[in-house]
Amino acid sequence: MDYRPTSGPCGGPGIPDAHGRRASYLRVSVTDRCNLRCAYCTPAASFCPKPHQEILTYEEILAVVTQAVAMGVRKVRLTGGEPLVRRGLETLVEKIAALPGLLDLCLTTNGVLLADRAKALADAGLKRINVSLDSLDAETFARITGRDALDSVLSGLEAAEAAGLSPTKINVVPLAGINAREAPDFARLTLEKPVAVRFIELMPVGPAASRNRVAGVDTQTIRRAVEDALGPLSPIPGHDLLDGPAERFALAGAKGEVGFITPVTGHPCPSCNRLRLTADGKLRPCLLSDAETDIRSVLRSGGSERDIQQALAAAVAAKPAAGPRNQGVLSGCARVMHSIGG
Ligand code: SAM
Repeated sequence: MDYRPTSGPCGGPGIPDAHGRRASYLRVSVTDRCNLRCAYCTPAASFCPKPHQEILTYEEILAVVTQAVAMGVRKVRLTGGEPLVRRGLETLVEKIAALPGLLDLCLTTNGVLLADRAKALADAGLKRINVSLDSLDAETFARITGRDALDSVLSGLEAAEAAGLSPTKINVVPLAGINAREAPDFARLTLEKPVAVRFIELMPVGPAASRNRVAGVDTQTIRRAVEDALGPLSPIPGHDLLDGPAERFALAGAKGEVGFITPVTGHPCPSCNRLRLTADGKLRPCLLSDAETDIRSVLRSGGSERDIQQALAAAVAAKPAAGPRNQGVLSGCARVMHSIGG
């Protein structure tokens, strides 16, 4: 089989699956450790990181990413856990950024350690950054994350802008009775700054799958709250390979944009172009399905570049047409989000 990038029914580059889609976007979790304990993602009571020897080294991550890019992956996102808690991330960024054919390299972070790292990351070749920030209120921030660190995150956002990591995206997961009322405050940020605020529906993964812990708020409710407070949201047309799955809008006169990501009330599967590499070396073709391909054993048994490509091709070939959510089974999966990479 020839694993070089090809184009097909869905057009564009990427690794083909069995349903006419192409995986052109690889999300790489560089660690399962995190410096926050968000109630819906990494609650302190159940946080159980893997032993270090089970986590891929940077050399192993680079070996997988190199072959993925050779096969047509065009966008790589580094995530975690919290990627900035892993030492030396800039060296990995520099090596991935140098791969020929890669169009976009970005990072998802909670922003707590970003202020001191933004410039070095940009210098290493990082193009853009997503900062997860669920509240602009210090008390609510601490309630959700278990840490009084809102000021550090806001400094991180400023440092990212100053370092040219733009447009910065701010990811918000609205939670009923906790931060959902802040939706207009987040949208208001886009009037003054060229940021992209993304409201993401809470997915039934890990602690978020347990109904008595936290409940998400659906996109229509959030959109209505934003429009009632700030006026109509006009759609931003167009979508390309590098855009995420968000439906994008802008308020009148805004410098930035507001987006909605609807994994729960929408139908993301037919256009899914993602493949995930977990920190412990599993390829995961669907966020909500626990089917995984073990690429760590390929790497640690002296696998060749060809073997790595074969593992990548097999993982993408096994990508389901629709995840459990689209089959009507709105249930959680065995892994928690901080170990998958979100
Ligand atoms: N630590 C980094 C961060 O905070 O962005 C990267 C990892 S974190 C798992 C990535 C994203 O997943 C965060 O924006 C977080 O809010 C989101 N997330 C975690 N659990 C989620 C869930 N059940 N539903 C929706 N988003 C979730």
